[in-house]
Amino acid sequence: MDKKEILERCRAEDVHFLRLVFTDIDGIIKNVEVPESQFEKALNGEIMFDGSSIEGFTRIEESDMLLKPDLDTFCIYPWQSPHGKVARLMCDIYNPDETPFAGCPRQALKRVAAKAAERGYRMMAGVEAEFFLFHRDPDGRPNHQTHDVGAYFDLTPMDLGEEARRDMVTVLEQMGFEIEAAHHEVAPGQHEIDFRYAEALKTADNVVDFKFVVKKVAKDHGLHATFMPKPLFGVNGSGMHTHQSLFDFAGNNVFYDPKAPYQLSAVARGYIAGILDHVRAFCAVTNPLVNSYKRLVPGYEAPVNVAWSEKNRSPLVRVPARRGLGTRCEVRVPDPSCNPYLALAVMLAAGLDGVERGLDCGEPVNRNIFEMSEREKRRLKIKQLPANLAEALDNLERDRVIREALGEHIFENFLRNKREEWKQYISVVHQWERDQYLEQF
Ligand code: GLN
Ligand code: MG
Ligand code: MG
Ligand code: MG
Repeated sequence: MDKKEILERCRAEDVHFLRLVFTDIDGIIKNVEVPESQFEKALNGEIMFDGSSIEGFTRIEESDMLLKPDLDTFCIYPWQSPHGKVARLMCDIYNPDETPFAGCPRQALKRVAAKAAERGYRMMAGVEAEFFLFHRDPDGRPNHQTHDVGAYFDLTPMDLGEEARRDMVTVLEQMGFEIEAAHHEVAPGQHEIDFRYAEALKTADNVVDFKFVVKKVAKDHGLHATFMPKPLFGVNGSGMHTHQSLFDFAGNNVFYDPKAPYQLSAVARGYIAGILDHVRAFCAVTNPLVNSYKRLVPGYEAPVNVAWSEKNRSPLVRVPARRGLGTRCEVRVPDPSCNPYLALAVMLAAGLDGVERGLDCGEPVNRNIFEMSEREKRRLKIKQLPANLAEALDNLERDRVIREALGEHIFENFLRNKREEWKQYISVVHQWERDQYLEQF
């Protein structure tokens, strides 16, 4: 799409507001909305915003940043209002002197994707983002009450949650998403909506839209949607399993080799090995919250051990049965609180590093690792994911490949913010401690 076409469509479809969308380092979705009179300026990439007020972006003295929209991402939200319609464009952030801003997550992914392209690869990615729906109190504040008592694939009578989920699917379809499945997840109030895979950048943009639509539609139904990884103790948390593969520029999936063991090419094996080699560091990015590590515990279908498998669901990397164009690995560690651009950037960098170093992922572990003894795991050299955010950050700090993928600016700001988050968390006295110790000591 070019500028002229976008302006024409805005006129034809009664679009009166344009949202310029981007994310901060933490993945929080931000936008600047401009009225019709500013559309030209916005499409020219001349809209400025104050970067210093956005977490981890810039220092006060370099506050003015430019928003350069990616015109190919133009999309009109399907909602009508008395003010006409609203459209949105995904943006890259630039410095006032028109150079790319080093703290822009979207461009971090573009940089790693460009590196892959130099080697002849395009990353394809598809995600399964899970979320919970909670009720709101009469004052509008979300509480911890789920909308139902349903479970995995349950066919329940229509309730508020089901209705909200259908609306989400409808809106996403109107925005051009191809929805492949939508279902209730294992925990009460937990849902999943799956949309079709695409090239990495497109998928990251899709995750941004997806989260926005899910939250907006839930709100319209009087519910609260959360992508918090583990909102409830004792039931499954929410993951964002990420299916990934490398294609060449002729459209072939280079993970597929019909003659190789498991029909997985050396590139696929190297990629998986790279993921396994770096995951204990990159999970600081794919699982960035204190709360993320409360999902990564045994017993809730979330990975704990660093291993790959063809069959069972407990390992961190699973290779689904599909072959041919659909050959891929499913990395099951990420959760939906991550910044999708940075998450895909670090996973791609990890995979590419494995390919480049000619690593091999070895034999799959097709048994249930949760039932293995510690000795057996040691023998099979199966490591564990970090137990908490602090440990993940220590690993991240030591990993050059992941550091380079993020770029110095993002790396430093991310580490500083996250160290602060951890410091706050461990200094607070939590309810659990009072429950355990108040009477006993
Ligand atoms: N909720 C699980 C997780 O945390 C996944 C459950 C599933 O999709 N089978 O990863
Ligand atoms: Mg699924
Ligand atoms: Mg699921
Ligand atoms: Mg899955």
